[in-house]
Amino acid sequence: MEIIHKQKSCYEIFKDELNKIDSFAKEYINFLNNCKTERETVKWIEDRLIERDISSDSSKSIFYRKFKDKSIIVVRRGKRLLKQGTRIIGAHLDSPRLDFKQHPIYENTYLAMVKTHYYGGIRKHQWFSIPLAIHGVVVKIDGTKVNIKIGEDPKDPVFVIPDLLPHLAYKQNDKKLSKAFEAEKMNAIIGSMPYLEEEEVEDKIKFAVLSILSQKYSITEEDLYSAELQFVPAYQAKFVGLDNSLIGGYGQDDRICVFCGVKSFLDQEVPEYTQVLVGWDKEEIGSEGATSARSRFIEYVLEEIIDIWGENCHLSEVFLNTKAISADVHAALDPDYQDLHDKLNASKLGYGPVFCKFTGHRGKVGANDANAEYIAFLRHKLNKKNIPWQMAELGKVDEGGGGTVAKFLARYGMDIIDFGPGILGMHSPYEISSKYDLYATYLAYREFYK
Ligand SMILES: [Zn+2]
Repeated sequence: MEIIHKQKSCYEIFKDELNKIDSFAKEYINFLNNCKTERETVKWIEDRLIERDISSDSSKSIFYRKFKDKSIIVVRRGKRLLKQGTRIIGAHLDSPRLDFKQHPIYENTYLAMVKTHYYGGIRKHQWFSIPLAIHGVVVKIDGTKVNIKIGEDPKDPVFVIPDLLPHLAYKQNDKKLSKAFEAEKMNAIIGSMPYLEEEEVEDKIKFAVLSILSQKYSITEEDLYSAELQFVPAYQAKFVGLDNSLIGGYGQDDRICVFCGVKSFLDQEVPEYTQVLVGWDKEEIGSEGATSARSRFIEYVLEEIIDIWGENCHLSEVFLNTKAISADVHAALDPDYQDLHDKLNASKLGYGPVFCKFTGHRGKVGANDANAEYIAFLRHKLNKKNIPWQMAELGKVDEGGGGTVAKFLARYGMDIIDFGPGILGMHSPYEISSKYDLYATYLAYREFYK
């Protein structure tokens, strides 16, 4: 029995597995470049399921349910009865971004611009003067869906919200950061060439931009009212550092957990307990709405399988015996802002996925505080397989705080804890993770499901 807990890093534990880690990380980078919205991520998951002949046919022992193309649940039947509980891993598919406003396109001075309304907890100054791509869907009046993705192909143009030049920023520099960057000034350039064919047209630059959209996608300005268009960073995910040990990319909160969840789910045999993988939308805006973790979607799917599998049990029994992981990222210790972390209780990149017993702020307000018994159960599982993990809090007490979906599932009475890799620059256009933590998280989730 080791009296003192010595934390081992992934570098020691995985020193002979670098090739495996590299190829896993390359697959992840490719996933990040293909999935920048919740809809694209649902589509990617669905494609991986279809590749393995998994369909939405719930009479099969493994099936999936998609909900409004923005959330998804996959279920695999276990050997035990459903009333003995399930094993759930749930991650969120949405990331902070800039949404198009409802009346988005307008002409101002000599440019065509797009008005945006930010989604989730962004730091506004990070979104100026960077290349942005447009991703999303426009639904026409006849119900046809037009998928749009501009800015990812090397031949595509990108879009930019120009930042103020330093020469004229004297007054802005004196403002508080929270006041210096105004949401109403986060308008992106979409064009500058006027339409010259017809004399009569007002707002010739706006008209020219709408004509391009009309030619390319057969959509009109009115169609933009029934659209979900988002500006996301046009950056490609890449390895970071001379040693290629880290990964930079947009939307790693929380798609790193989505990726590890999907990979670990697909790697299972017939399990003891029924396995459930959930991808939720709307976490970044408080889990409101039909496609969020606060919706009843998971109840509906479990009720359905109680019926189909002919099990005579209450939904409450299933929930009360369920063990779950709220698969979400953690704040890694930032070398330049160490003063904001309690270093004894901070997570480090390269030391494995992080258990976060509670989130919340000012005295754990708004937190799911996971039970000690459950943490012991998980520790035991991971230690048996020598899978690295760490235990941490988000930052110093009273410095800030945050929340995840854990508390919304905890209401059902299941055991649940936040567990995912640490990230630097969380919610920024280019978040940083460790490829070692990525791999360790996958192994940990796989072990949890077993
Ligand atoms: Zn998250």
